[in-house]
Amino acid sequence: MITSSPTERRELALLRLSSDLVIVGGGLGGTCAAITAARAGLKVILVQDRPVLGGNASSEVRLWILGATSHMGNNNRWAREGGVIDEILVENTFRNREGNPHVVDTILLEKAVNEPNLTLLLNTAVFEVAKRDANTIQSVRAFCSQNSTLYELAAPLFCDASGDGILGFMAGAAFRMGAEAREEFGEKFAPTAEYGELLGHSLYFYTKDTGRPVTFTPPDYALKDITQIPRWREFNAKEQGCKLWWIEHGGRLDTVHDTEKIKWELWRVVYGVWNHIKNSGQFPEAANLTLEWVGTIPGKRESRRFEGDYMLRQQDIVEQRAHPDAVAFGGWSIDLHPADGVFSEKPGCNQWHAKGVYPIPYRCLYSRNLTNLFLAGRIISATHVAFGSSRVMATCAHVGQAVGMAAALCRQQDVLPRALTEKVHMATLQRRLLQTGQHIPGVPLRDDADLAQWATLTASSELQFSSLKPDGPLLALHDGWAMLLPVTAGVQLDLTIWAEAAAETELRIELRQSSRVDNHTPDVTLEKQVRRLARGEGQAVQVKFEHCFDEARYAFVCFFGDGHIRLRTSEQRLTGVLALCHAANPAVAKSAVQTPPADIGVDTFEFWQPKRRPVGQNIALKLARPLALFGAGNVLNGIARPTNQPNAWVADFSEARPVITLRWTTPQVIARVELMFDTDFDHPMESVLMGHPEGRMPFCARGYRLLDEGGRVLAECCEQHQTRAVIVLSQAVMTRTLLVELERPAANVPAALFEVRCYTTANP
Ligand SMILES: Cc1cc2nc3c(=O)[nH]c(=O)nc-3n(C[C@H](O)[C@H](O)[C@H](O)COP(=O)(O)OP(=O)(O)OC[C@H]3O[C@@H](n4cnc5c(N)ncnc54)[C@H](O)[C@@H]3O)c2cc1C
Repeated sequence: MITSSPTERRELALLRLSSDLVIVGGGLGGTCAAITAARAGLKVILVQDRPVLGGNASSEVRLWILGATSHMGNNNRWAREGGVIDEILVENTFRNREGNPHVVDTILLEKAVNEPNLTLLLNTAVFEVAKRDANTIQSVRAFCSQNSTLYELAAPLFCDASGDGILGFMAGAAFRMGAEAREEFGEKFAPTAEYGELLGHSLYFYTKDTGRPVTFTPPDYALKDITQIPRWREFNAKEQGCKLWWIEHGGRLDTVHDTEKIKWELWRVVYGVWNHIKNSGQFPEAANLTLEWVGTIPGKRESRRFEGDYMLRQQDIVEQRAHPDAVAFGGWSIDLHPADGVFSEKPGCNQWHAKGVYPIPYRCLYSRNLTNLFLAGRIISATHVAFGSSRVMATCAHVGQAVGMAAALCRQQDVLPRALTEKVHMATLQRRLLQTGQHIPGVPLRDDADLAQWATLTASSELQFSSLKPDGPLLALHDGWAMLLPVTAGVQLDLTIWAEAAAETELRIELRQSSRVDNHTPDVTLEKQVRRLARGEGQAVQVKFEHCFDEARYAFVCFFGDGHIRLRTSEQRLTGVLALCHAANPAVAKSAVQTPPADIGVDTFEFWQPKRRPVGQNIALKLARPLALFGAGNVLNGIARPTNQPNAWVADFSEARPVITLRWTTPQVIARVELMFDTDFDHPMESVLMGHPEGRMPFCARGYRLLDEGGRVLAECCEQHQTRAVIVLSQAVMTRTLLVELERPAANVPAALFEVRCYTTANP
């Protein structure tokens, strides 16, 4: 028993902790920064004021995690972010393809607590900062109400990933709130004050069918008159969760200090909306529905943005400007909302896409005036317009990873964040990020420690891509469809497809390419042809183009018809080859052609994107000359996803257990092998609500074996679903030959591999 005598006051329990890096905020930016830094060897403290990780992605708020794939609604092919966020999304899709938000929580927590270098403080809010000098943070104080403990957390480096930027704000970092004027950065899409300069908060609700009628009595504070919401007719009994993102409010208020006020208004709206659905008599289908969950913590979109040495701006996104210090990338549209939110007469958002993904420079990821403060998440150094794109969570996570790795390098080199902009450090930072799965557009991995770079490669087979069997369903040509085919210099496409016509008609065919070699927007038409089709089935249509490609890139063979035509598809699927549909994804675009108003600095172009599985089959075809672009050498080219080429070794369809062999002239000591598989970087893997048809990606090898020259099995995995396999051998081996044997995903999908790397040490 504890007894105590009365006294005037008592002190809280105080715990002083120190580490290499303190990260404030456990949203996806902070969480991915913490895991990356901890894996890179730093002692990290991650402080999160709520009971679980994920911020807006957690079960408390329930937003689906999105990024450059843009819901599969623009032309950013194979654009899902790499590294830790990829690992999280792939794992979530594997374990939780139904999109249960609680499972997302478990995965994030599991990833964090599995890191021995990471100290996780949940339910612990940072509220005070101590500085060593005007430009340096020394420590922060945080309080956990659950264990009534005060923490003092000291470190040489800090990262603010708190969304509102509590640490940067208190420590005196330069920041902004509200929109920049058009003139400051020459941003033509800068909003007017009338449209609004801040995005508001939102609260979601989930419903459940109880199987019998349920009544609903709204609380007194619920909105009584639904017509106060100009778009009230759009509510229906089916949509819930993040589909109702436009229940938004607060863009005219102080989105930091008025948050509680905004929350009450959002509750008023949510319960008013539910009252309308349950009690207006307009939705008999809602009779058995009950409210299963209503958010209690509003999802915050925007508040402070901090200033780094560079501010990302509209032109960086639209023109996809290159930066020597690129460490991450974005690809969501520039997505601004009217400040009046749900009470606005205007559409809930104004989204403008770029023709491809854009690099994010490292100079946006640290404070310009505090020497030891990194920025991660939505608060990075970006203008209001650029923030409209960089704010989505997979992008926040990707920049968080760059920060985590940068912090590790800073500690190793004993330098402060700004010093990493020096060329030699930047090359190291980019290399380390690429080694851990980060994708940086235009920056291939050059890794001198990788023994595979010195090996001679052979493969049991290399796909000579000559056909996609006509064994799939017929595809009606209501919209334009295209096959996205990789080509190299000297290729002239000559192919046959199979069509069926309900009446005599014309099939229009176009050969297109993208104006930028690494984009997938078919904005350059190279050739046009027309074929007359007679009424009837199974008509072979030969399409021979004159155009000869002069570099490695993707070609678009586009087909247009009048609705009478159906094309035969194939059940065969293949890494780096896709069928695309010219259509709008209403979740992120208003029409199949982006048509911005004049003078907002945004391009007009067409959207062509794949359909989600289980549909989205390739168009069956036969090539007169096979495309030999899937050779074993691709695993050494430093790019671990399709870009302007598939960048994968792909075996023949017929091989169930193909083998790639690495041979060295002298015996090598190998302690660690890394493999990169195809987990479909085109798949956005929305984390909640939506659900997905499969947990394991169809292009991912089922398993693998590593064997030495004597045929001894060094490592084996029968259940591969992740993108990266990091194999630390139980004992290093000395060998002249390493065989990597893959188990083909399925009879209709050949085995593929993006990367093999071998190291002499377990921790290179
Ligand atoms: C309604 C809505 C819809 C959106 N739609 C999407 C979408 O569909 N997909 C998408 O990817 N993005 C979407 N976004 C954007 C995205 O959710 C945010 O931009 C993103 O969550 C920002 O990530 P973050 O890590 O910076 O911040 P957050 O996710 O907010 O995480 C910050 C964390 O820091 C914690 N924190 C704050 N203060 C402290 C403190 N003092 N001490 C310790 N911890 C603290 C917070 O509790 C929080 O968990 C949407 C946003 C909103 C609000």
